[in-house]
This record gives sequence, structure tokens and C-alpha cells, in this order.
Amino acid sequence: MAIIISGKEVSANVRAEVKAACEQLRTKGITPGLAVIIVGDDPASRVYVNNKKKACADVGFVSEEYALPAETTQEELLALIDTLNRKPEINGILCQLPLPKHLDEKAVINAISPLKDVDAFHPSNVGRIMIGDYHFLPCTPAGVMELIHSAGIDVSGKSCVVIGRSNIVGKPMAMLLLHENGTVTICHSRTRNLKELCSSADILVAAVGRPKFVKADMVKEGAVVLDVGINRDENGKLCGDVDFAEVEPKASYITPVPGGVGPMTIAMLMKNTLKAAMLQNGID
Ligand code: NDP
Repeated sequence: MAIIISGKEVSANVRAEVKAACEQLRTKGITPGLAVIIVGDDPASRVYVNNKKKACADVGFVSEEYALPAETTQEELLALIDTLNRKPEINGILCQLPLPKHLDEKAVINAISPLKDVDAFHPSNVGRIMIGDYHFLPCTPAGVMELIHSAGIDVSGKSCVVIGRSNIVGKPMAMLLLHENGTVTICHSRTRNLKELCSSADILVAAVGRPKFVKADMVKEGAVVLDVGINRDENGKLCGDVDFAEVEPKASYITPVPGGVGPMTIAMLMKNTLKAAMLQNGID
């Protein structure tokens, strides 16, 4: 029987810390502000944006929503980002992805000021993460690390396998595990000996985007299993990339879906926005 690492609990603690720090900042006349841009009417994006706005209100931040029509041009979007980059009461800017096809995601990410890039997607922030000298960490991998720490798990010297190499999750996840002295392997769709590699892992992170992809025979007895996936199973029920029912009896620690990594992402976004507000006000 594995110990279940509760993202609900850990994220509530992170949010409570951010809220307390925000109250402190307000005594100095500073209220952190987050601008959230959403282009088009993708229902999943709308849910994420609403959750981010609610989280801001809960911790005491100001949030501004910019809901733009699907036919917004690249120039219009870049002009808005430029305005927000210059707006002193806005400390963090995020543009909800994916964008409609005619918009250039890379150019949009590049346009956000690195100091306000609370998603940590800007190439300058990505580079800073590589060299281990960063202000912001990408929210989902940072959330996974927070879960690992909360369970008192030491990464140093452990064999860590990350399945997935996206810029948003897999690659930065691997880097954060490496920073903590894990011996890291990154797997992807061209990996030949996936089962063998996964079943050698002390710490296994699944960020594949395939429902119940990780089965018991891919997991070492006593492994720590962190499930980033958010998928729907054959019955339309929310599930992760890990087959929880099969894997849980074999793991020492495991995160559930829902209630695992998911709630951590927004909590870490709040943490990044607080950090941005502090940096922009000369508080370290
Ligand atoms: P991507 O689709 O960008 O990346 C998926 C990765 O999995 C790719 O690197 C791909 O390899 C790899 N992959 C796909 N199929 C296989 C396979 N058969 N064997 C081995 N590797 C494979 O997804 P994201 O990284 O954006 O997201 C991953 C999951 O995490 C999704 O379920 C997403 O919904 C969820 N997610 C959850 C968040 C949260 O807050 N909890 C936040 C962000 C994402 P290749 O590169 O070769 O194509």
C-alpha cells in the first residue's frame, strides 16, 4: 500500500503561505497583480482561467482578465502584452495556451517581459533554469517538486525517470530533479526500452498525456510515482497517465488524479506572482 501524496493538502499549505506573505506586502502598500489573457472560447481554457482568477482572489491578489475574441490578430495580442509589460500594478502576465492556430505561440511567449513571466516559459527564464539561477520555475514541475519535498523524499542519488519531454512539463521536470542530484533519464515516444527504463526508477514522473499509460509492470517495487497526466478514461472519468489501481499497491508513494499534481500548478502560479511582485518592488 502506497502513501498517497495529497496535492489538495500541499497546495492549500502553499496558498496559505502566499496569502500570509501577501498580507505582509499589503502593509507596505503593495498588492500583487496578475493579468490573464485568454484568446477564443476553448472551454478547458475558460475553466483554467476561472480557477486562476479565483485563486488570486483567495490569496489577496488583484487579477485582470483580458478575454479576446478568437479572431484577434498577432499585432493586437502583442500590443496588449506590451501595455501589460509597462503597467506597474501588473506583476505577472500569463497567456492561456493553446492559442488559436493563426497566432504564433513562440512570439507571444517571447513578448512577455521575463520579469513578469510567471509561467516561466520565456527563453531567458528557461535558460536561467538550465544554469540553476532562476526567479521562477514552471508551475507544474515546481508543483511536483513541492509534493516530493512535502513527503520528505530525498532525490539525491536516486534514479529518476521522466516520461515526456515537453517544454512545459517533461524537460523542466528533468532539470529540477537533476538540480537535486537525481540521476535523470528522459523518455519519449521514440524511447525503445521504455518498460525497462521505467521499472528501474526510484522516482517515476509520468507526463505523457495518455490515460492509464503506466502499468504495474513498468514500476519498481517501492518506487515513488508522480502522475502529471490529466486525461479522460473510457467512461469519461478524469484519470492520470498512471493506472492507479494497478500501480498503487507496488509504489511507496503515489499522487492521485484528481487531487495530486493538478492543484499544485495554480498554487505555484500564485507563488511565482508573489515573487514577481517582490522582485519588481525591490524586495528579495
Ligand atoms: P505533450 O503532449 O506536450 O507531451 C507528451 C510527451 O509524452 C511527449 O514528449 C511525447 O513524446 C511523450 N509520449 C507520448 N506518447 C508516448 C509513448 N507512447 N511512450 C513514451 N512517451 C510518449 O504533453 P504535456 O507535457 O503538455 O502534458 C502531459 C500530460 O500532463 C497531459 O496529460 C496534460 O494534460 C498534463 N498536464 C497537466 C498539468 C497539471 O497541471 N497537472 C499541466 C500541464 C500538463 P514525443 O516528444 O516523442 O512526442
